[in-house]
Amino acid sequence: MIELRFECQRGCIACCDQDGWVYITEDDLRKAANFLGMTPGAFEKRYVYRTAKRMRLRKPPEKQCPFLNENGCSIHPAKPTQCRLFPFWPELVEKRSGWATAAKFCPGIGKGELIQIGTAVETASEMKSAYPALYPER
Ligand code: SF4
Ligand code: SF4
Repeated sequence: MIELRFECQRGCIACCDQDGWVYITEDDLRKAANFLGMTPGAFEKRYVYRTAKRMRLRKPPEKQCPFLNENGCSIHPAKPTQCRLFPFWPELVEKRSGWATAAKFCPGIGKGELIQIGTAVETASEMKSAYPALYPER
């Protein structure tokens, strides 16, 4: 059984600065567009790369995410599902090695209250429902 402790650390932006894509849902797109006062269409044109089964934010050349700035996430109240649920992603909570890998860059892992494994798995299942193309049923 993995012991899960987590408390996001103020001022940290490490998870936003890791290699990888920021996948978004249709709902994420609408919320972020609304937060920025843009239409969903205009937001998509500017920030989103869409394929048949998934959508992700376009990555600017100089940083990992278009919304990352020195103060953190510029769309924090409307940030995408995967950002909101980190580090409770299926691949991180279901295997000790996944949690340990995330702990290498996330200083919040190992801090704070003990998280019930059931709660972590439930949160991770939200990832699976939000991104079915990333977590196909096995
Ligand atoms: S890396 Fe961890 S502590 Fe840092 S912002 Fe992300 S979740 Fe919070
Ligand atoms: S949308 Fe915000 S929280 Fe998500 S990776 Fe970009 S800056 Fe970080």
